[in-house]
Amino acid sequence: MSLNSSWDQVLHLRTGRVGGHERPHKPALLLALISLVESGRLRDNKISYDPELFEVFRRYFSIVQTDQDSINMIDPFWRLRTDELLIHHARPGFEAAVNAQSSAPSITQLREMTDFSSLRSDLFLALQDPAERDRLRDAITSRYFAEKRSELLRVGLQERAIGSYEQLIEQADGSPMPATEDDIRDQAFRRVVLRAYDYRCAACGLRVILDDLVLVDAAHLIPWGVSRDDDPRNGMALCKNHHWAMDRFLIAPTPDRQWKISRCLDDRIEGQKDLLNLRGRSVLLPREDRFHPKVNALTWREERLLNA
Ligand SMILES: [Zn+2]
Repeated sequence: MSLNSSWDQVLHLRTGRVGGHERPHKPALLLALISLVESGRLRDNKISYDPELFEVFRRYFSIVQTDQDSINMIDPFWRLRTDELLIHHARPGFEAAVNAQSSAPSITQLREMTDFSSLRSDLFLALQDPAERDRLRDAITSRYFAEKRSELLRVGLQERAIGSYEQLIEQADGSPMPATEDDIRDQAFRRVVLRAYDYRCAACGLRVILDDLVLVDAAHLIPWGVSRDDDPRNGMALCKNHHWAMDRFLIAPTPDRQWKISRCLDDRIEGQKDLLNLRGRSVLLPREDRFHPKVNALTWREERLLNA
């Protein structure tokens, strides 16, 4: 199919109506998907339904939603296939179930039934071209959200900047990071580190995801103020408690990739036992070696703990 036909689909989405206005979910999700392509996170056209996509979707959606729209991503995500823009690839044995599923499945069902989803191939190809991306984004905002156009384009520009910084720090080679606004830096560092650790605390393994809300933070090993280093190998995903405890040098990941505990903690105090139980436990590392923490950053943590 030609690009024109996918443009046609994009501008004639089956949006559904509520209280006299078109539901904004599908076009907002398309804007989020364009941002994902632009940031280089969709190189192979494999889309997973994950907190990151939801986070970008929420940014667009919050600008265009009215009192009558509640946030929901699974519904438009599933139903973009009826507009022939998204394809959901069934896992072996689930082909018939995927075909028969007309209403949106639950997120658990989606993961059970499908491997991944992808944009229609001609659309995905067209979106590799920056000029086409801009044209499509313009067309979507003019068609569905004319009054909010400038706000939406601003989000698009921010997402582009976050994506560029993500690519940069993923390939960090020790050279100084270019000057970048703090909120762009923070978001990029957070996304890369949380993705690397699959949203799991490197100390206790806690992993809780509610749409785009996750229980872990991205912590710097050597703080940004000291190191100016956003290399993800200077980062770690930690739950709120373990982030707090590491920042205060009560616990530290060490170069032998275990947790060390400060002498200040006392195992006679019932409330401190959870932290003390970490002693000698392995750091829960990212699956990919290239994101494993740098030895100098772990040494820095261990020394500070011993001297605290
Ligand atoms: Zn934890």
